[in-house]
Amino acid sequence: MTSEARVDNHNAVPGAGEGDAAPSAADGERVNLFSLSRAQMEAFFVEQGEKAFRARQIMKWMYHRGVLDVDAMTDLSKRQRAWLKEVARFDLPEVVTRKESRDGTVKWIVRVANGNCVETVLIPDKGRNTLCVSSQVGCMLDCSFCSTGKQGFNGNLSTSDIVGQVWLADAELRARAAPGEVVRPGEPGGVTNVVLMGMGEPLLNFDNVVAATDLMMDDLAFGISKRRVTISTAGVVPGIYRLAEVSDVSLAISLHAPYDPLRDELVPINRKYPIEDLLAACRHYVAGLGERRSLTMEYTLLQGVNDSLEDARALAALLRDVRCKINLIPFNPFPGSGYQRPDEGRVRAFQTLLMNAGYATMLRTTRGDDIDAACGQLVGQVEDRTRRKERYIARRRAGEVA
Ligand code: SF4
Repeated sequence: MTSEARVDNHNAVPGAGEGDAAPSAADGERVNLFSLSRAQMEAFFVEQGEKAFRARQIMKWMYHRGVLDVDAMTDLSKRQRAWLKEVARFDLPEVVTRKESRDGTVKWIVRVANGNCVETVLIPDKGRNTLCVSSQVGCMLDCSFCSTGKQGFNGNLSTSDIVGQVWLADAELRARAAPGEVVRPGEPGGVTNVVLMGMGEPLLNFDNVVAATDLMMDDLAFGISKRRVTISTAGVVPGIYRLAEVSDVSLAISLHAPYDPLRDELVPINRKYPIEDLLAACRHYVAGLGERRSLTMEYTLLQGVNDSLEDARALAALLRDVRCKINLIPFNPFPGSGYQRPDEGRVRAFQTLLMNAGYATMLRTTRGDDIDAACGQLVGQVEDRTRRKERYIARRRAGEVA
């Protein structure tokens, strides 16, 4: 993969202050158009002596029709096509592995610009195609039940790395379409929902994630509704306040515990930003979304750890004044995790208590069991650069960690 001119700062749009300069190809390096927002692409073309509306034409080819072959962009003149080849490129993550589950879930391992691998998972369900994308290579937050967290951190993804995951999934869905059927991102048949719940903590890769989600929601790119693009955070409180200033993307919180001592253990960033601070940030964010939208609280159920009725009651009381719905996720065990999935009766009882307390409470069914679709599982088998997972398992066996 070629080196990439980094133009991923979402603020780098005309009139936005620092970083306004449009990316330039004057240094002889072609610019990856998947790195650019609509405004950045317009500025880039104007700087190249072209009309701004060229961005509109080219984005439609890239995102609506899935065409990256410049010679096939038939509404550009021969001269314009030659020019485009000189100044631009269309670099995407490279697919290393593709696995498809019996239930239709597809998991890709893709190699991104910095040479590392991340995971992308497509979950088709009742007319929806939900894509779970990664935002970082590994993760530095080390949540105790997470396979990704055991692999250490190997860097941020660029905007084009993140957007490219959506483009690749759309390309697959387009290829499956019946003859004559037009598949568009954001519409039935294409990717309809995106969740940034793959590898990494999105708010620790703030600029690139915001730029990528802007493209996901831009009608000239993926055109997915803001209700259907969700950033999921473990609780990076300053990032939530910052996000409220620049975006109205949907937000999910990986809560997983109703008390600080337990959350300190499960989600260590809680030691820095405890529950009270986190919920204050949540109330601030949801206030900016308008009355009809809410947050999602993610709660992974771990047998004997956070799945009792007492825990459910505490959770219901905790969230009383936060406009939210709750997603319950029975834990998907992986080797060395040390946690178990609760039995179905316990899960149902937890859900029923929350529903009786007035919360819309969804139960996320496990998908892609046969292809190791738990986040971080498959890439951990394909590539574990730091060998941190093995060290973690050895330490757990030796009784050094809980
Ligand atoms: S759960 Fe999310 S934030 Fe926590 S370690 Fe895993 S990837 Fe990182």
